[in-house]
Amino acid sequence: MLLQPSHFKLAPICRDITKPVKSIDRKRTGTAKVPQPFLRRLVRWVIASAMALAPVSHPAGAQPLRQEPCSTPSAPSVAITFDDLPYSIAGDPEARNVLHAAGDANASIVAALDRYHAPATGFVVERRVKALGQMGVTLLAPWNQGRLELGNHSFGHKDSNDLNVEEFRHEVMEGEATIGPMVRNVGRSLSFFRFPYNHVGDTADRREAFEAVLRERGYRIAASTIDTSDYLFDAAHEHALKTGDEDMRHRIEIAYLDYSRAEIAYYADLNRQVLGCDAPAIMLLHLNRINASVMDRLLGIFQRSGYRFVSLDEAQAHPAYASSPRFTTRFGPMWGYRWARDRGIKVDGSREQEPPAWIVSYGKSPAP
Ligand SMILES: [Zn+2]
Repeated sequence: MLLQPSHFKLAPICRDITKPVKSIDRKRTGTAKVPQPFLRRLVRWVIASAMALAPVSHPAGAQPLRQEPCSTPSAPSVAITFDDLPYSIAGDPEARNVLHAAGDANASIVAALDRYHAPATGFVVERRVKALGQMGVTLLAPWNQGRLELGNHSFGHKDSNDLNVEEFRHEVMEGEATIGPMVRNVGRSLSFFRFPYNHVGDTADRREAFEAVLRERGYRIAASTIDTSDYLFDAAHEHALKTGDEDMRHRIEIAYLDYSRAEIAYYADLNRQVLGCDAPAIMLLHLNRINASVMDRLLGIFQRSGYRFVSLDEAQAHPAYASSPRFTTRFGPMWGYRWARDRGIKVDGSREQEPPAWIVSYGKSPAP
């Protein structure tokens, strides 16, 4: 089956603190510049059609990469990453009095990672640090020791599609305001930058210019291979918390874990089809309350499936990550789709499930 636009996840996953009213559609399409539903669908169709019409070839006949991704067989492994530290809604207009929630969420997630001996990287948005004052800095401390490490997720979480190169450089450098001195004080350095919305450059020229800025400052681009749309489930979970509906909160958590299980398997299959082997997976999550609540169970899914937890550095040492995907898009698909496009391999995106519709609609419920 050809790749269907409605099934190809073009979407990035982060909340947009600069355009809070754009909500979910803005996140799913990855663009605020196509306001009408028809135009938005059209853009997605054009991108997906271009993917579907790409020349098909067997991996053996694909363009050679710098290193052959499958030269070293590996057992399943995964690097866990969290975006939007110190707390995913800190600084948003609708988020008030979140200090307690931010503290609890960080403590729960860090404790669960410790129980599973799982390394993790936390990508920090400096504007969210500032929104929490001294508490924001305090919450980052556990992420700067032991198996946990800090990464840069920019100052203001702006969409790079809307930035020129100098503006992007500013976002990167100002993103280091708190975390730069923190890592240097303990003899570490900032190794990874994750683009907000996974928008790594919407043209070849801009992607290369952004990459040059990151190289100058010693960064690698943080890849991501598993997307569970956790922000959608978190929106529903937040509503259940605010309304005190414990039964609904439990249902939402079960639905989230079911969907995560399906997506972990889907992306493992996709990457195996494209690369011909099991490259280390990289799980993209956010520092929010649903993840705080389910983290033990989520890590348990990986453990029971035989995954080994590795650092992002170890994951991206695999040859599959030796160079950034060349595929240019204004959207933020996972690396499996980008690798498929680079290698001219047709993939069946219709196999990827969408999050349940009731989760999406419940998460849009008006605040109580
Ligand atoms: Zn983000």
